Amino acid sequence: MSALRCHRCGQALPDGSLKYQVDVKVRSLYDGTIPDQNEEDTRRALDKVLAELSHYNEEQANREVYEDDVFVMCPPCKEQFLHDIYAHMHPKASPESGRDHMVH
Ligand SMILES: [Zn+2]
Repeated sequence: MSALRCHRCGQALPDGSLKYQVDVKVRSLYDGTIPDQNEEDTRRALDKVLAELSHYNEEQANREVYEDDVFVMCPPCKEQFLHDIYAHMHPKASPESGRDHMVH
């Protein structure tokens, strides 16, 4: 018997039932631009970052760069999860992506 349960609602997900694996990958995005700063501003900004990182443990520091999570969900929870994400997308966000842009 399967021990899988939906991560969102807790419903049992027996072997052979329809279920989804939802991978969440979050990466720090570098756009190739470093703001113009003089040497003193750069040193101050670096000191600030190092001071902030000194309060983090290794896992917290890594999460500032990347984070991977994997969830198993039943069909209604997968739909609600995606709905929640797309319902919060700003209309001016770019690049355009998501369900509304895939339907033509
Ligand atoms: Zn569920």
